[in-house]
Amino acid sequence: MAKSIQSVRGMNDLLPGRSDLWHTVESAIRSVVGSYGYQEIRTPLVEHTELFQRSIGEQTDIVEKEMYTFLDNNSDSLTLRPEATAACVRAGIEHGFLHNQTQRLWYLGPMFRHERPQKGRYRQFHQFGIEALGWSGPDIDAEILLVGTRLWRQLGLSGLTLEINTLGTSDARTRFREALRDYLGTRREEIDKDSQRRLQSNPLRILDSKDPGTREVLDTAPDLLDFIAGDARADFDTLQHLLTANGVEYRVNSRLVRGLDYYTGTVFEWTTGSFGAQSAICAGGRYDELVTQLGGRAMPAAGFACGLERLVDLYEHSGGCGASEPFDVWICILGDNAVSRGFSVAERLRDQGLRVMANCGGGGLRKQFRKADQSGACFAVVIGEDEIKSQTLTVKSLRTEEEQTRLSEEQLVEYIKRER
Ligand code: ATP
Ligand code: MG
Repeated sequence: MAKSIQSVRGMNDLLPGRSDLWHTVESAIRSVVGSYGYQEIRTPLVEHTELFQRSIGEQTDIVEKEMYTFLDNNSDSLTLRPEATAACVRAGIEHGFLHNQTQRLWYLGPMFRHERPQKGRYRQFHQFGIEALGWSGPDIDAEILLVGTRLWRQLGLSGLTLEINTLGTSDARTRFREALRDYLGTRREEIDKDSQRRLQSNPLRILDSKDPGTREVLDTAPDLLDFIAGDARADFDTLQHLLTANGVEYRVNSRLVRGLDYYTGTVFEWTTGSFGAQSAICAGGRYDELVTQLGGRAMPAAGFACGLERLVDLYEHSGGCGASEPFDVWICILGDNAVSRGFSVAERLRDQGLRVMANCGGGGLRKQFRKADQSGACFAVVIGEDEIKSQTLTVKSLRTEEEQTRLSEEQLVEYIKRER
């Protein structure tokens, strides 16, 4: 026998038994984002590498070590998308739909990051996200957080914590960056290698370090919120007021920064205590400078991205299950002569919007009945020699005590629609 081929490490199949679970979560997403007027956008899985270098930032984990980058046959450097915000903005600029307009967008699809695979962390994973382009105020920040909150509620999720912070104006960030650099400079030996390297180039990024030693040093670092004043402070207060007034629970965490360079004002993250280190379910914030960084006219923007594998796991963990609809009818087909009639009856029932399984591959009546019963179907319809001769069909209700009965095809359709 030839050696079997395995899937690529960290890239998983979604098997038939689990796809219902995903469908349930995905339909909740569609219904919630639709109820806020967000429209779907689908962008390619592959983009020019430069798009991510210019948006996510050169000195981020993603760009430094997690991207699947390759040269195509024309020697263009291409990258499998590690996230979708940059592509949404790229598409907006390219197609002109950001010009003097506001947009509420959402997307869902696979992303790729070369990370160490473990539970909740994969090399191909899926994100659902929303992006609101063209609004600068705390109102849209609040709306985005309401979208997430409503989705978690609709899915019946428990144990999610929301943390929010603001990165303030670029002035405030510059002053804070200096203070942080001075402080960390005095404790350089105690922080991890990546952080030491980022001390000069991008000290804010250090706040996002997962190294325990570095985290301890950060405990007594200067506080970002002490540097935020004026309008930025007022906006952050308004956001909090809107959240509280609409029943969103949150905690302010002044150490929260995001692992991507493009964030500017509000940032936030929902985490769960259920999955160890892979605790982030959904994260995002404001990225007012991204559109200009990517060559468009200045435009404020905010959004979030949510990890679907983690969301589906949490949904299951909270008692959720996939809602698969049982068949209305299972057609038992006895003998080769009955196949053609069996199929035409099945098609006729499907024309009426019914869910029908036609038995394929033969088998005796008893075996077919058992399969029909196990499938959860409401009715079994039997077609054999007798039924062909008499131009009738035998119908049996699998869920009630009712006697089986012989009907014509016309009567069958009526009967099933009535009794179902
Ligand atoms: P983490 O800190 O867990 O690495 P992140 O900050 O890199 O997360 P984002 O870039 O903000 O994550 O992506 C948004 C969400 O996408 C995360 O909150 C998480 O739920 C999910 N996610 C990110 N990377 C992965 C991955 N490799 N596998 C599965 N889900 C992921
Ligand atoms: Mg990461």
